[in-house]
Amino acid sequence: MNDPGTDGTGSDFSASRDARTTELAARLRAVRERLDAAVAAAHRPAGAVELLVVTKFFPADDVRRLIGLGVRTFGESREPEAGRKIAEVRAGGEITPPPTFDMIGTVQTKKAGGVARWARAVHSVDRRKLAERLADAAQAALDAGDRDDPLGVLLQVSLDGDPHRGGLLEADLADVADAVAGSPALSLRGLMAIAPLAGERAHWMAELARIHADFTRSHPDATELSAGMSGDLEIAVAHGSTCVRVGTAILGERPLLSQ
Ligand SMILES: *Cc1c(COP(=O)(O)O)cnc(C)c1O
Repeated sequence: MNDPGTDGTGSDFSASRDARTTELAARLRAVRERLDAAVAAAHRPAGAVELLVVTKFFPADDVRRLIGLGVRTFGESREPEAGRKIAEVRAGGEITPPPTFDMIGTVQTKKAGGVARWARAVHSVDRRKLAERLADAAQAALDAGDRDDPLGVLLQVSLDGDPHRGGLLEADLADVADAVAGSPALSLRGLMAIAPLAGERAHWMAELARIHADFTRSHPDATELSAGMSGDLEIAVAHGSTCVRVGTAILGERPLLSQ
């Protein structure tokens, strides 16, 4: 599958592996092994959990290297840097199958237009106003031919009410879900959460699983659960995550200033 000669990227990185590519390949393999083991341990079918490789603060060259290694699903967290980087990746030559990029970080309302042009989905929708802006922006992007499909939306849940980490309280999910459901340019996919640092990870993940189960009773198509990062992907997979967002374990430590 990852035969460097047939990755379809036309990329130099696959022809002659530089040291960075070798490093990324080893880290990627280790994370895939962790993920496969976690899926098997949870008695879930192979492929039940998507690996979103988080490339925020790393250059377009690293994205191209990862594409050469077979990665097609990426996460980015800051606009307009993300939009620029993705344009640079795409300018490097046609990629088959094409990669997708999800927005996983806080979106300022005024940046909705940029995000709606490049994102497959936004994992971090945390207020009604943002859902409404994304609906308008996604419709404009569809009309302009900048995108072919509705913009996926995951509502970010706050597990402990900490405003710094962001997210909606459980009681506020339905109102924002209604705003998403009211737009043909948006598609409600599920929920997302970042586990609080304090307290038991397993406790928070179990709480998230319960919130998701309740939510899907009224929103049966919202089957996705985006949870788990470099440090806690096993616990998230054990509690039903369908998408883990992994940065550091694959790319390495981010520059300190950027955290
Ligand atoms: C940066 C980021 C990640 C990746 O975290 P790592 O610990 O580096 O794997 C996941 N989710 C969100 C929302 C992020 O901002």
